[in-house]
Amino acid sequence: MSNAAPPSDTIVAALIVAGGRGTRMGEGKPKLYRPAGGETVLRRTLRTFAAHDGIDLIQAVIHPDHIADYEEAARGLPKLLPPCSGGGERQDSVRLGLRALAVHTPGRVLIHDGARPFASPDLITAAIEALDSHQAALPALPVVDTLRRGHDGRAGETLSREALYRVQTPQAFSFQAILKAHETMAGTSHTDDAAIAQACGIEVALIEGEEDNFKITTAPDIERAERLIKAREQRGMGQVRVGMGYDVHRFGPGESLMLCGVEIVHSHGLIGHSDADVGLHALTDAILGALGDGDIGSHFPPSDPKWRGVGSHLFLAHAARLAAEKGASLNHADITIICERPKVGPHREAMRARIADILAIPLDRVSVKATTTEGLGFTGRAEGIAAQAVATLEFPAS
Ligand code: MG
Repeated sequence: MSNAAPPSDTIVAALIVAGGRGTRMGEGKPKLYRPAGGETVLRRTLRTFAAHDGIDLIQAVIHPDHIADYEEAARGLPKLLPPCSGGGERQDSVRLGLRALAVHTPGRVLIHDGARPFASPDLITAAIEALDSHQAALPALPVVDTLRRGHDGRAGETLSREALYRVQTPQAFSFQAILKAHETMAGTSHTDDAAIAQACGIEVALIEGEEDNFKITTAPDIERAERLIKAREQRGMGQVRVGMGYDVHRFGPGESLMLCGVEIVHSHGLIGHSDADVGLHALTDAILGALGDGDIGSHFPPSDPKWRGVGSHLFLAHAARLAAEKGASLNHADITIICERPKVGPHREAMRARIADILAIPLDRVSVKATTTEGLGFTGRAEGIAAQAVATLEFPAS
């Protein structure tokens, strides 16, 4: 097998292995789909890879029973290919994922456990760059604790920990080399992809792993994840930016209007190029503001006929996707609707739920408020509706 390094302009894919049932945690949802720190374990993993500049494509391998949970975890994230179904063993799942990736002709692939949500961007970079000079690389940490055998609850002999490592993912490979190795080794049983590579004569380089890059396997692991997320939040590792948005649309003929993604029966409609949803327009602008990325008009020009009459949820989902591409997470969104009527109160919870759904964030991070202007001004004269919004985004520490 050739030891030539792939060209540096090659496509880099991430293969996220999420095919297991995760039964070790007991009843209920698999660990991948358990929330930790406001989002599921798998979403955090996918988000980390989606936000990394060095990753071009992401292929997840999932259990077919979990397609709905997967789609929820993946919603709005860039770079994701449609998921493929895993096989009986992890090794089978990886082989199927590699086959699905082959049509995209990646030069390099990082194979990563979906249940390791804390791999840092630096580790991903190190894994990709290790392939400049090796066909394969794996992150590992030296064993520091004393190792000892046990027999029937009693301590046995001490083992040498010299040259012993704890192995992690992402494991990085020249794509063609690992695809061929997996095909050759189909039907065998190996603990990880590096072992398969080695069995095919591929030399695997060691790169330094990370203590926080642990695999969430048991219920206590979820608790450890929660503590880690909380500690990071308290340390303020991320950088918070706040964006604001404002929008107005005029009443016109109609029998209903769209407000914060909810259709409300009313004596008038709202006039606009799209569906004229002032609430979602203000919030879209708030997110774009926090990203420093123009405004809704620069992304969706009213002069472009393709946006005529479209649902404004598309604009909001686009802004959320731009945030995800920059690795930013949406902490919170707050909208104030300003009008005499329609009454917003009866629709408020539906609006919050709709926005949380579009943004794929928990309901308690979305606020919708309403006020009148005591009969003053254009809103007071019921000529239209105004909306203000604030969004807070957290960017990873750079
Ligand atoms: Mg507008």
